[in-house]
Amino acid sequence: MSSATAKENHWRPAYVGLGSNLQGPAGQLDSAFDLLGAIPHTRLIRRSSLYRSAPFGGVEQPDFVNAAASLLTQLGARPLLEALQRIEIQRGREREDVRWGPRVLDLDLLVYGRDEIEEPGLIVPHPGIAERNFVLLPLREIAPGLMIPGLGQLATISVNMDEPKISRIA
Ligand code: AMP
Repeated sequence: MSSATAKENHWRPAYVGLGSNLQGPAGQLDSAFDLLGAIPHTRLIRRSSLYRSAPFGGVEQPDFVNAAASLLTQLGARPLLEALQRIEIQRGREREDVRWGPRVLDLDLLVYGRDEIEEPGLIVPHPGIAERNFVLLPLREIAPGLMIPGLGQLATISVNMDEPKISRIA
């Protein structure tokens, strides 16, 4: 067994959040879905609609397009995160991007099986699920019954009414 794959090569469900606000965001996400499906030992199972959201964090920049994907993977959480980071770089993302600033592609590992991970550089479930509508709503579309470790069922997590509106675009 390769050290990159999870115990006994089990297929684990994993959920990924996608975001872009540069260089044709909707097209960036379409390509990203294809690249997610091409990760070794991994299959793309579902993709959400695309959603438009106003930028967060006070940096002047274009609106974001966000989405979520569900995967089945034999990779461990850390190798999967590394695969996501390689895709970000392949699409022209600079790793030193400004926090909350514009980006060609942002891929977050939202959920990995039932695991709760808190390590340097890897927090799962991703804190954005409970905090950001642009993470919560696309994920809820593709997996309303999903149990999020530490948070409960996705359908029961409330939308944050203080955040800018997000709308489905495609
Ligand atoms: P971002 O600017 O959102 O792409 O954040 C990237 C940083 O967050 C990297 O240093 C990652 O190691 C770290 N990080 C921690 N947990 C996660 C996660 N679940 N998914 C993606 N990045 C994560």
